[in-house]
Amino acid sequence: MHEMTIAQNLIQILREEMGRHGARSLKSVHLDIGQMSAVVPEALSFCFEVATSGTDMEGARLVMNVVPLKGYCPQCKKEFEIKGYTFICPSCGSTEIKTIGGRELSVVEIEVD
Ligand SMILES: [Zn+2]
Repeated sequence: MHEMTIAQNLIQILREEMGRHGARSLKSVHLDIGQMSAVVPEALSFCFEVATSGTDMEGARLVMNVVPLKGYCPQCKKEFEIKGYTFICPSCGSTEIKTIGGRELSVVEIEVD
């Protein structure tokens, strides 16, 4: 389950952030999860809960926002949302598009005490 690895990486990032702010406990974490990052939010939430159990992060809420996949067409110079995994420009029908978002997983905001 690769969500456990992600959860552990996430905890490491959060620990550094908490240290930087001199925080004692973690209340919530807001995450952006790319549609293409292959992360299952429910699984990540579960792994996070397991991995933080018994630590100072126990009980922290994971708030996840799934970011849709975005494409860019070099011909039209337009950005658009890729739906249903169809990698075609909606304006000109070109298939020479670049994916510019939706693969990332990033911490947007953390709430601490
Ligand atoms: Zn186009």
